[in-house]
Amino acid sequence: MQGRAKTTPAVLILLGPPGAGKGTQARMLEERYGLIQLSTGDLLRAAVAAGTPAGKAAKAVMEAGQLVSDDIVLAVLKERMAAPDVKAGVILDGFPRTDGQADALDGLLAASGQQVTAAISLEVDDEAMVARVSGRNTCTGCGEGYHDEFKRPATAGVCDKCGGTEFKRRADDNAETARERLKAYHDQTAPLIAHYAKAGVLETIDAMGSIDEIASGLDQIVARVSAP
Ligand code: AMP
Repeated sequence: MQGRAKTTPAVLILLGPPGAGKGTQARMLEERYGLIQLSTGDLLRAAVAAGTPAGKAAKAVMEAGQLVSDDIVLAVLKERMAAPDVKAGVILDGFPRTDGQADALDGLLAASGQQVTAAISLEVDDEAMVARVSGRNTCTGCGEGYHDEFKRPATAGVCDKCGGTEFKRRADDNAETARERLKAYHDQTAPLIAHYAKAGVLETIDAMGSIDEIASGLDQIVARVSAP
């Protein structure tokens, strides 16, 4: 069946190149709607840090800015989706990124009588992306994301959310790897926009604005797609 399923739990997909704001917006949606953010990038980084077989296989690929194989990504995602908290509904951040992943997701959801509620494409300009990605950092304590230019903590060096004072930068957030990641996005992920348009669940949003402007655009979309 095609078209939008106006049922709960919601399955929202955030599509967009690195630096489009998927992670920031997913965290904000999580807080506002009680949905669970599922970031395959975060799951893979945790696997790398834990030294699991999946993490060992993914590490070099991630550092090169390329896509990890569908098998590995699907394995970490399925494990996470088996946890009870995802029953509240999910925001998929950075997944799916290939046709194979999109088909696997459709199958996974169909098995539990669900379908994608909306795939929201965050539309941005390539050059701005490299600048956005290069200034990113994250609070080590709570994971809140910041940016040297666009989102600084109210007090320099202190996390607004948890008061933590340690921040980290991702190994792949540099200009050179960002260009590779953009290339992977255009080659392998952007075609999914057509996949979701065909399924009747595509939404687009101008993501060149401020974090709050994008958040308010997303609110309007979420209100519309989840209305009974
Ligand atoms: P992200 O945090 O979403 O920017 O992802 C960081 C890196 O993890 C990407 O550059 C890929 O190497 C890998 N990755 C994350 N999600 C996926 C995915 N769905 N498919 C393939 N690779 C992924």
